[in-house]
Amino acid sequence: MSRVLVIGCGGVASVAIKKCCKNSDVFAELCIASRTKEKCDALKAELEGKTATRISTARVDADRVEELVALIESYRPDLVMNIALPYQDLSIMEACLRCRVSYMDTANYEPENTDDPEWRAAYEERRRRLGFSALFDYSWQWAYHDRFREAGITALLGSGFDPGVTSVFTAYALKHHFDHIEEIDILDCNGGDHGYPFATNFNPEINLREVSSPGSYWENGRWIETEPMAIKRVYDFEGVGRKDMYLLHHEEIESLAKNIPGVRRIRFFMTFGQSYLTHMKCLENVGLLSTKPIVFEGREIVPIQFLKALLPDPASLGPRTKGKTNIGCIFKGRKDGKDRAYYLYNICDHEECYREVGSQAIAYTTGVPAMIGAKLLLTGKWGGAGVFNAEEFDPDPFMDELNRQGLPWKESFDPVLVD
Ligand code: NDP
Repeated sequence: MSRVLVIGCGGVASVAIKKCCKNSDVFAELCIASRTKEKCDALKAELEGKTATRISTARVDADRVEELVALIESYRPDLVMNIALPYQDLSIMEACLRCRVSYMDTANYEPENTDDPEWRAAYEERRRRLGFSALFDYSWQWAYHDRFREAGITALLGSGFDPGVTSVFTAYALKHHFDHIEEIDILDCNGGDHGYPFATNFNPEINLREVSSPGSYWENGRWIETEPMAIKRVYDFEGVGRKDMYLLHHEEIESLAKNIPGVRRIRFFMTFGQSYLTHMKCLENVGLLSTKPIVFEGREIVPIQFLKALLPDPASLGPRTKGKTNIGCIFKGRKDGKDRAYYLYNICDHEECYREVGSQAIAYTTGVPAMIGAKLLLTGKWGGAGVFNAEEFDPDPFMDELNRQGLPWKESFDPVLVD
């Protein structure tokens, strides 16, 4: 019976919280804390009477370590689930360390202010050394490993779908089906249609920053970077059909390259329709994806934050979205001296997600694994002192939970490969 502090109350957090409430034997008490307390109160009101989990709410600015420490000290949780934004990862980890409470999140650190000189200097050095220019990387959070180990607490990084489930899929493939994995292709297909000309499925600022950046992949021990959307393939996804997909940089490539011994190549592909790409290019060309503040009528505004205010809230897409997602990994490698290919994937239906938790499948496929990661930490099936990515733990209990909690997986030993 545990007590958990959830930080953030957006699209993904709402699903994770609803799923925690369906597992009230583990999640006995939850405090939902976010910048806008009204959203936390509304979710509490929606859930009360439908769950045995005892819910409280709080307001917190998770950029401020002192505020977080005060909240953690007063609530005394067994675990802090960070489902706010990647901008808050380090302040929340810092507060957890000070209070000696375990931590988990769904996305790796990226700074809100990319002009901060200290961050910029470290970023430029990393860009030269490693060769990828994404604004996010694991170095900031991995740097906490020794301090978390000494404090005897756990940090679980990236327990969403990708990263998260894709990381666990890789650990499962290695444990059960390969002596050695040589290649991993992660395929993320969203075949959903929300009926808007343009909208993003999760936080627009984080999403558009990610997909408008150069692509990159890991090959033969180094990063190879490409122009944005330069590598395109077509794949026929079960449950969705043929889709164009584009190579992107993605955070789990970095951790899998570190944690999967001898892996030769890791690529990540995401599907996009032509209309999405045309909208995005246009917004980029007119400067609306910029994170650099401009002065407008005497007031400083950040263009991408202004754009976020104009776009539909991803949490509002639920009732409108039809179709399915299909996200998974194709592995190539060797087993018992023979070549082997293996595909692990999940198909998720937007409308079924909406019927169950009132959200579309992107929030669902991220929020459910966040709850599962937390559950495994709280029940001691996963743990240890230090900072870990999901592929470092035993995949079996997580794979069992996926089947029980609404994200059943499928496998194929004869997949169509990506060239
Ligand atoms: P939303 O924008 O819907 O929600 C973010 C929440 O964080 C909001 O409740 C927001 O509060 C709160 N928040 C933001 N800043 C602060 C702050 N300083 N202090 C306290 N609360 C704050 O985002 P999503 O739910 O779409 O995404 C949540 C996370 O999930 C992101 O980190 C995203 O990158 C990650 N993600 C991971 C995926 C994966 O597969 N691994 C896939 C998709 C998303 P307010 O209501 O006031 O704005």
